[in-house]
Amino acid sequence: MATKPIYLDHSATTPLDPKVLKAMQPYLTEVFGNPSSIHAFGQAARSAVDTVRKTVAEILECEANEIIFTSGGTESDNLALRGVMHNFKDGHLITTAVEHHAILYTAEALRKEGYEITILPVDEYGRVSVAQVEAAIKPNTKLISIMLANNEIGSLLPVREIGKMLEKKRERGEVTPLLHTDAVQGGGILNLDVGHLKVDLLSLSAHKFYGPKGVGILYVKNGVKLLPTQTGGGQEKGKRAGTENVAGIVGAAAALKLANSKREKEAARLTKLREELVNKILKEIPRSKLTGHATERLPGSASFIFYGVEGESILLRLDFEGIAASTGSACNSASLQPSHVLTAMQIPHEWKHGSLRLTLGRSTTSAQIQRVVKVLKKIVSDLRAISSVK
Ligand code: PLP
Repeated sequence: MATKPIYLDHSATTPLDPKVLKAMQPYLTEVFGNPSSIHAFGQAARSAVDTVRKTVAEILECEANEIIFTSGGTESDNLALRGVMHNFKDGHLITTAVEHHAILYTAEALRKEGYEITILPVDEYGRVSVAQVEAAIKPNTKLISIMLANNEIGSLLPVREIGKMLEKKRERGEVTPLLHTDAVQGGGILNLDVGHLKVDLLSLSAHKFYGPKGVGILYVKNGVKLLPTQTGGGQEKGKRAGTENVAGIVGAAAALKLANSKREKEAARLTKLREELVNKILKEIPRSKLTGHATERLPGSASFIFYGVEGESILLRLDFEGIAASTGSACNSASLQPSHVLTAMQIPHEWKHGSLRLTLGRSTTSAQIQRVVKVLKKIVSDLRAISSVK
């Protein structure tokens, strides 16, 4: 009998939770009205969107009118950066070298429009320090965008500490830039209380926490001026034009609520499994290293580099064995370019190409971990036997 496939790519996406599907179903069928319509069909849809906006706000500990629904993490990031920077003719934006391309490429586009951009270098764990961020602030800095957790190497970045540093400055009477965090990888598993994080804007994507694909959330603190990036109808209080994806929005909120209800328990379970995986791989596979921080990382994220082998070759062979993994971010996997994250961390060439990301989720078990390590050990050894890098 063939062994059941093992999915260890939860940072790329997660399966839709059946309970979430059930919550969405009425809005794909009988409650089909356009929330902007005056009639009862429209008002039923409007009421659903309004209700779940409150659900999301409760989890983020903010006001319902501070939540904007978008088409995903990419749009939330684009809207945050452009929406804030476009209030000004010029100005300075600070971000990091390890952000997702939704941030980095948007920052590059803003640079071409004439804005000043600082891309902060990172340490060996892919992190920036509060002091580094503080030193980069200039009188014309309008926005700082720092991810909550990195999608390739799982490291947590000191967003709350940066928020605290800005708060202290404000207490001293200084005018400070706004703080945005791309929290896409932290959705449903990290604390998203925006008051705790001390952020002004925060991006999320539903498909990372067992919700539907193509739905995002952007928290924008009341008082923050955000210009829309697309023109059209007046939905989302004029901040995001386009008929609402009602079923998707209902699904995003249901998924976030469900994930949040078991967040701490699941985080502890995943951390334990991840430790088991990391320890076994480092012990059993020679010339293997963990990338990212050993403890300050996403509970379910384990990422490695293997000397002298190609990560893509490992992936193909794992896939052949029914094991789904990644070399880093989902968008990087189609190219053979070394990851911008590992490059920013100054990982040497002979190691950088041998990256592997194993991201755990609700379906992951200890038995799966044992099998993955056994299979991976053989794959790396086989590839090394035919590798020209010794
Ligand atoms: N930001 C981070 C950190 C991500 O990991 C991702 C997706 O992998 C995104 C943004 C983009 O989100 P979406 O796929 O919803 O556009």
